[in-house]
Amino acid sequence: MIDFQALAEQYDTPLYVYDFDYMAAQFEALKEAFRGRKSLLAYAVKANSNLSVVRHFAKMGAGADCVSIGEVRRALICGVPKYRIIFSGVGKRDEEIAEALDVDILYINVESEAELMRVEKIATAKNTVARISVRVNPNIDPQTHPYISTGLHANKFGVDLDSAKRMYIRAKNSPSLEPIGIHFHIGSQLTQLSPIRESAEIVADLVRSLAALKIDLKFFDIGGGLGVRYKEEQTITPYDYVQAILGTLNGLDVTVVCEPGRFLTANAGYFLTRVLYEKRNGDKRFVVVDGAMNDLIRPSLYNAYHHVDTLGKEGEVSAADIVGPVCESGDFLAKSYPLPMMTHNDLLVLESAGAYGFGMGSNYNTRGRSAEVALEGAQARLIRRRESFDDIIALEKEFLED
Ligand SMILES: *Cc1c(COP(=O)(O)O)cnc(C)c1O
Repeated sequence: MIDFQALAEQYDTPLYVYDFDYMAAQFEALKEAFRGRKSLLAYAVKANSNLSVVRHFAKMGAGADCVSIGEVRRALICGVPKYRIIFSGVGKRDEEIAEALDVDILYINVESEAELMRVEKIATAKNTVARISVRVNPNIDPQTHPYISTGLHANKFGVDLDSAKRMYIRAKNSPSLEPIGIHFHIGSQLTQLSPIRESAEIVADLVRSLAALKIDLKFFDIGGGLGVRYKEEQTITPYDYVQAILGTLNGLDVTVVCEPGRFLTANAGYFLTRVLYEKRNGDKRFVVVDGAMNDLIRPSLYNAYHHVDTLGKEGEVSAADIVGPVCESGDFLAKSYPLPMMTHNDLLVLESAGAYGFGMGSNYNTRGRSAEVALEGAQARLIRRRESFDDIIALEKEFLED
């Protein structure tokens, strides 16, 4: 049992709390599912990019899947070895590509023919060889929220099979490019196995046809996407997930690279917020809290559900919207949530907030971002201090004219 009241007292609210032991258990469960197979678990840093979180996974032997050079730098600072770092993402600036080559990371996931040419050009100018993987868009519906679906041609991610094949041939014939991997990532919060299996089959077939052209890929990068339980979702077990992938790899001698983000962190995280007041507009009941969409945007952005723990508060429940102070009607943490009557300073704990929570935060409405706390064993420790007003204005202040 986590003593949320004590944490809220000590660190104030709004506050993110992460159970590092839970993160470790999730990592070990996935690693166990790959046991005996060549694999690399590359933590998707964007899910929760706090340095202490990244280091926690690095210590367990994780690599890092990064979607900006900033994330690559985070991974390096946290001790992720360069040979376990992957740079993905649909748009990379020349400077980012150049730095990734200088650092000599494992490979760059390339997402278009135009990007392949940029990488080639930059590698040539540096007189080096860029290790690359091509992100294939298998055009499979992952059956998840449209904003986190990435595996359809209608989504901006990856390239179709024919383009991928052309890119591999081009890369093989270039002295500045070394194709070593293939990548797909069809979406996030996946709870159905069949789209994953179908995508893996399509991509594995491509790997086999490339092998016939003497293009031998070593890394079969299945992306992330493994879903978690927020409400009552039936999720995929790590064992079934890994078996489904391995079942498509007959005749291939590849290292499977997996890039979990949400699976490792979502249910390790809690968002603590205190009640400011109750109010009614006609029949509609609102509980106004000190946390808002600038702290946790998932409800506003995806209509996401977070279970709310009232920590034993008693009384008859009725439906209330839990809303923050931000001046947007889209600023809510829950809609029509059954809650007892709340009073000033009551604590609410939103569960499953460890992935795409803090990292999507902003300073909108000149609100400092929350502090973050790690729990390991029975110990709590601050891993990011609360942003102050001075922090928020720091980059503007020097430009203020009289
Ligand atoms: C976001 C992302 C991931 C992680 O996705 P989860 O659903 O959090 O596991 C992995 N790989 C790539 C390329 C991504 O963009």
